[in-house]
Amino acid sequence: MNMNAASKLTKEALEHEKQISALTKTGEESATKYRDEIYRLRYGVYEPQLGEIRRQMDEALRALEAQQKVDQEHLRAEVIRLKQAIDKVQRILLFLRLKPRALAVEDDAVKTYKQDQGKYKEALPYLLDDDYLKIKLFIVENGKPKNKYSLCAVGDTIFPENLLRLRRGYGCPFYTGNMFSLETLVRDGASVQELKTWLAKNYFTLQPDLTGDYFIVKLEYLAAVQDYKVMDFGPLLLATCECGFFHTIFDDLGRRGEVITCPKCAQTMKEV
Ligand SMILES: [Zn+2]
Repeated sequence: MNMNAASKLTKEALEHEKQISALTKTGEESATKYRDEIYRLRYGVYEPQLGEIRRQMDEALRALEAQQKVDQEHLRAEVIRLKQAIDKVQRILLFLRLKPRALAVEDDAVKTYKQDQGKYKEALPYLLDDDYLKIKLFIVENGKPKNKYSLCAVGDTIFPENLLRLRRGYGCPFYTGNMFSLETLVRDGASVQELKTWLAKNYFTLQPDLTGDYFIVKLEYLAAVQDYKVMDFGPLLLATCECGFFHTIFDDLGRRGEVITCPKCAQTMKEV
């Protein structure tokens, strides 16, 4: 073995070992420096800026959304304001379309169900016998074990449901073929006499309870037909019929340019 060579190698190894130690230390210091700088840039500089931008964005978007709401509310209010005149004329036209007809609630119109045949049924006099609304009361045996009798009201009016909504509940122990605008159970009782006694006591409160807005609608109707004629609204009319029925620009007639048949009498309507 060459002693000189060994000594040279040893020296070199020791030297390199020292250098590696120094480099390792430098590397650790450098890593710390970078980590600190990254931390500083992230949390000291950019994150706060991002936070501020996000805050500004949220604020701007919220302001826009609030403005949009205000604008839409404004538009809606404007449409509602403009629609008032249209609603008013449409309501008058609904009244002008009505044709008074003879109203009646025949005793036979109220039929018991097949399995209830032979059960008690009594028609009482009209509770209301007015020109445009008639209400008749019936007492009908209902098949229940205890309160065996039902006092029911059946009514006929010239006003369609969109002008006058009357009670059309279930619970009547009979059928009428769905012909009536008022059909409701008033109350059940143990005997016919009990119901009649109740009726005598409650006669005058029962009537307003069952007529709803009838008297208001009736006044409105009478005023409309007295003050206006269909032809007063000429520019709004699309087609008229000899029977008195008419279509207006507010009616959706579907396809245009075809023969328009009157839905009331099936005659061909005259286009205006
Ligand atoms: Zn017609």
